[in-house]
Amino acid sequence: GDLGDETHGLVIAHFGTQVEVEDEQRQRYRCFLRANLGSLVTGDHVVFRPGQEQNGVQTGVVETVLERNSELSRPNPYNEIKPVAANIDVILLVIAPEPYAHANLIDRYLVAAENCHIEPIILLNKIDLVNDDNSEHLADLLNRYSYLGYRILQVSAHDPDSLGELKEFLNDQVSVFVGQSGVGKSSLIATLLPGEDLRIGALSEHTRKGRHTTTTARLYHFPAGGDLIDSPGIREFGLWHMSEDDVLYGFRELRAVAGHCRFRDCHHEQEPGCALIEAVEEGIISEARFSSYKRILETLSEL
Ligand code: GDP
Ligand code: ZN
Repeated sequence: GDLGDETHGLVIAHFGTQVEVEDEQRQRYRCFLRANLGSLVTGDHVVFRPGQEQNGVQTGVVETVLERNSELSRPNPYNEIKPVAANIDVILLVIAPEPYAHANLIDRYLVAAENCHIEPIILLNKIDLVNDDNSEHLADLLNRYSYLGYRILQVSAHDPDSLGELKEFLNDQVSVFVGQSGVGKSSLIATLLPGEDLRIGALSEHTRKGRHTTTTARLYHFPAGGDLIDSPGIREFGLWHMSEDDVLYGFRELRAVAGHCRFRDCHHEQEPGCALIEAVEEGIISEARFSSYKRILETLSEL
C-alpha cells in the first residue's frame, strides 16, 4: 500500500514480528519491519513510514534502526544472551529495610549495570520501615555506595510526598527498576504511573523446546516526565554471563587500580606487587568490597 513520509519513532513494545512504534506526537503505529533489519527491542529509535489504517489500527513499516546508546540483555529460552531493551539511561537498583539488603547482592546488581555501561543509582524504598534495629546497617550501606560515587535516593512507595526528588530525577531519562523480589518495585511503579494498565502483555511463542510464554518489555511515560521500560525479565536483571574481567570491571574502585599490579596476569590473590591487595592494606579499597568481589568470583561457575 501507500506509505507516508519517513518519520522518527520510538519502539514502545515488541510483538513477535511486529513492533509498536510511537511518533513524536505519541501517535501509535503497529509496524512491520523491512527485511534484513535485524531484531528490534523496546526503547529502539527507528525511522518508519506510516501506512494505512487497518481495523482501527494505524500501521506502518520500520525502515531503519538508529544506533543504540545502551542495551540491557538477558538469556532467552534458547539460553542465548539477547538484548531486551535499548537506550536505557539509568538503572534504579531498589533496596529496602525488608527484605534485608545484602551488600553482596547490591554489588552483583552494580557489577551487571557497570558492564552494560548504564549508570546505576541506589533507591532505598520503604523508608517508613527504618527503625533502631536496621538504621545502622542501612546507613553503613548508603555511606559505602555514596562514597563510591553512586547517587542515592530515599523514598516510600506508600508516601507520595516522599517521591518529589525521584520524579525530578526520572525526568528526561529512560529508566528501569531492578532489585530483589519484595523491595517494592511494583508498588513504586504503580504509584509513579497512576491509571496505567501495568499488566504486562504475555505472549506465547513456539520455540524448538516447545511452547514458552515470554513477556515483552514495554515503555511507559511518567506523567512528570521521563520514561520507564519494564517487564518481569528486566526486573530480574543480573549477572548472566560474566567473566572474571567483567566482575573486576564492575567494581569501579578496583577497576581503577587493577592496571597497576606488577604482573599483567595478576589474579589479585597473593602475588607480590598486587595493587589491589596493597590498596586494601592501605585502606583505599574497603575490605568489605574486596571480599564481596572475591565472593562473586567464587560463584561465577554457578551462574
Ligand atoms: P516487588 O516484588 O519488588 O515488586 O515488591 P512489591 O511492590 O510487590 O512490594 C512488596 C511488599 O512491600 C508489598 O506488601 C508492598 O505493599 C510493600 N511495600 C512496598 N513499598 C513499601 C513502602 O514504601 N513501605 C512499606 N511499609 N511497604 C512497602
Ligand atoms: Zn593484582
